[in-house]
Amino acid sequence: MTCMACLVIHGGAGTIPRASFTPASYQQARDGLQEALRAGWAVLRDGGLALDAVEAAVIALENHPSFNAGHGAVLNAAGDHELDAAIMDGRDRRAGAIASARAIRNPVIAARRVMEDSDCVLLSASGADAFAREQGLDMVAQSYFTTDLRRRHWLRAQEEKAGLLIRARSEAEKHGTVGAVAFDDAGNLAAATSTGGYTYKRAGRVGDAPVIGAGTYACNGVVAVSCTGLGEYFIRRGTAHDIAARIRYRGDNLVSAADAAIAELTEDGCGAGLIAVDGAGNIAMPYNTEGMYRGSIAADGTLSIGIYADDFAMLELIK
Ligand code: ASP
Repeated sequence: MTCMACLVIHGGAGTIPRASFTPASYQQARDGLQEALRAGWAVLRDGGLALDAVEAAVIALENHPSFNAGHGAVLNAAGDHELDAAIMDGRDRRAGAIASARAIRNPVIAARRVMEDSDCVLLSASGADAFAREQGLDMVAQSYFTTDLRRRHWLRAQEEKAGLLIRARSEAEKHGTVGAVAFDDAGNLAAATSTGGYTYKRAGRVGDAPVIGAGTYACNGVVAVSCTGLGEYFIRRGTAHDIAARIRYRGDNLVSAADAAIAELTEDGCGAGLIAVDGAGNIAMPYNTEGMYRGSIAADGTLSIGIYADDFAMLELIK
């Protein structure tokens, strides 16, 4: 039987301007995308669930320092990390999320536990950390999340506040997110998103990633979506659910529904991107920024990754 499954990942629309990449950091980010795709694919290839695949892919991205989630997350205005994540199962629209967590090594695992082992959808702050601890998840000191790069981004944000900055901050210095959407062999959809949010965000600020229907959404037969960009815009527009509604109620195709959502965010002045897969395994990855870290294994078996418009290319035929 041919495998119809497919998987799409993103590492955020807050990409480094091309000129600022070193060959090593460019390769590091691409390797991170590939590792995450392969982690998710190891699940789907063997007939596994879309839900398990998106979790596996997001764990790999959280563990990789190139992306703003888990290890490598940005610092808030107080110089701390507060992490948001969500996961959603398209089979029954069950969902779990955590917001402003401070000590959970892999926020997406905690989000899944909220979905499966609590009667809540969203747990926040010390309540989220306490729940993860009770669940026996890996807990870490804040320093685990910090990288030298994120410390430099924080210092530049502080200088900008003080009016001392000569060169404007890039999108990469401000934000990023990771996410995955998948369609499995049984036709199920799932989505997961994880982020450190925005550099220098106000302590306690929660973005769109853990808000179901804003940054994350999945419904079998319709679509699975994971978003990236300034969360406040996505929350106000209910972007991920808006894409589902366009497809479900109006019969829009995936690409036009996803493009319409990005067009509205562009009108808002929001640098935005998203990944989506529909109930037939079609995929879309629109963005309006200079680049978006992204990768896919499409139904035809092509494994592709890229960061900008012109470097997105097939690496191998995987099926
Ligand atoms: N959506 C994230 C947030 O607002 C940031 C991003 O994706 O760039 O927290």
